[in-house]
Amino acid sequence: MSAIAVLSDVHGNRQALDAVLDDVAGHGITRWWCVGDIVGYGADPGYALDVCLSGAELCIAGNHDLVVAGHLPLEAFASWAQAAAAWTRIALGPDQCARLATLEPTGSADGVDVVHASVRDPVWEYVVGLEEAAPSLEAATADLTFIGHTHIPAAWHRFPDGAVEGVSTTTPVTLIPGRWLVNPGSVGQPRDRDPRAAWACFRPEHRTVEFVRTRYDVAGAQAAIRAAGLPGLLADRLSDGF
Ligand code: ZN
Repeated sequence: MSAIAVLSDVHGNRQALDAVLDDVAGHGITRWWCVGDIVGYGADPGYALDVCLSGAELCIAGNHDLVVAGHLPLEAFASWAQAAAAWTRIALGPDQCARLATLEPTGSADGVDVVHASVRDPVWEYVVGLEEAAPSLEAATADLTFIGHTHIPAAWHRFPDGAVEGVSTTTPVTLIPGRWLVNPGSVGQPRDRDPRAAWACFRPEHRTVEFVRTRYDVAGAQAAIRAAGLPGLLADRLSDGF
């Protein structure tokens, strides 16, 4: 099986998505999956949705996609995220919202599961540490599950005896026996204080995951957010990577 790029939390950031897909192609990778939150926050939701629906082999919905599509109420969000979601609904229009509404928050391909948030709560739970990772690893039905939602690259491993460890993402991870929960980080709104777009390269034949960062036109994405009249903090945070 050939390598697969795993992209999550694009959040309507056209500049980041284009740069990552260029980098993916530069790595010789032709297959990619999308782990949800295609829209919300960024200024180009329609572009991101088109690219993900036409290009990704596997594409699931995140909480932002579900709110914008009308599956969840706007009130589920804080006020500034509500404002962004309401703007995104209008920017997409009814036809694009209907396409977004066809996506589910879970999926699987090649024996790998993909869920936006966590295995035990695919829509909302933030897996930030062992406390949240352990129950999801116990509930997992595949050896490998990709998640997103926190916008922070991470990997957790459950040994066959049930012990769970966090694994560094600074070097490629070899998927030794047991179960794995892997978060590639966010393409469009990184929150680990590194403003570069984040994604992961999964090589099934080698059982490895490499965490990759890609520089992109942050200023261009910020200018588009401001020009759209979206909340200013959504632009500001892109240069902080937080
Ligand atoms: Zn997100």
